Amino acid sequence: MTCKNILDINYLSTYYDNLGGKKLFKDCIKDFNSYINKKVYLYYSNKKDTPVCALPKFKILLVTRLGFLSFCYNFYFYVNGFDYYNIDISQDNLKIIAKCVCSHEIGHILDDSINSNRWEQSKVLTDILEKMLHYNIDFSNIDFHKKNLPQDLENSVLIFKKNLVGREAIAWEIARNIMHFHTPKERFIFDKVREYALATYNYGDLKSIIKENNLESFFKYKKYFA
Ligand SMILES: [Zn+2]
Repeated sequence: MTCKNILDINYLSTYYDNLGGKKLFKDCIKDFNSYINKKVYLYYSNKKDTPVCALPKFKILLVTRLGFLSFCYNFYFYVNGFDYYNIDISQDNLKIIAKCVCSHEIGHILDDSINSNRWEQSKVLTDILEKMLHYNIDFSNIDFHKKNLPQDLENSVLIFKKNLVGREAIAWEIARNIMHFHTPKERFIFDKVREYALATYNYGDLKSIIKENNLESFFKYKKYFA
């Protein structure tokens, strides 16, 4: 059912440390920097647990040990839940996953359409906020997002998600072009990491959109300027 060494998941962090942790990402970015047309910088933390992400404006790739490892755990559990295509837990494969993750984040940095997409997204967010106010949706109710939303608010949430997935798909497309695959296995793992990542982008509901875009404070203080 699962890959033959799923229990080796416990060795993941050891493999990671063997690969050098920060050095693994440093080398990876150095490699990409040698042929892409922007210089990408690495910000690495052993302590924080933020997910791996890019700050396109500053051309920074933010990597944390925990962020990367938890991505790998989730990826392995996702991909090895199928009977076919399993990916063994090994040091070599972990290195390839790191390269795939880097390529995707660099994809965001190289994506020239990111600013117009951001602008589009902030418009949709404003729209969502206005509609929530208009329909008097009680944000303090923890289950507010589980009820049926008014149709036009639901539409705005869909537009938001569509933009988000679109932006991710572009970054994956750029990533594919800069991966310069060395082996068929690299290509295979890349496809699986991309598939896994794209599957996760769609989980967001109105509540997580509010949270991830720091709109909670707006609702907390709403009463002061209502
Ligand atoms: Zn992304």
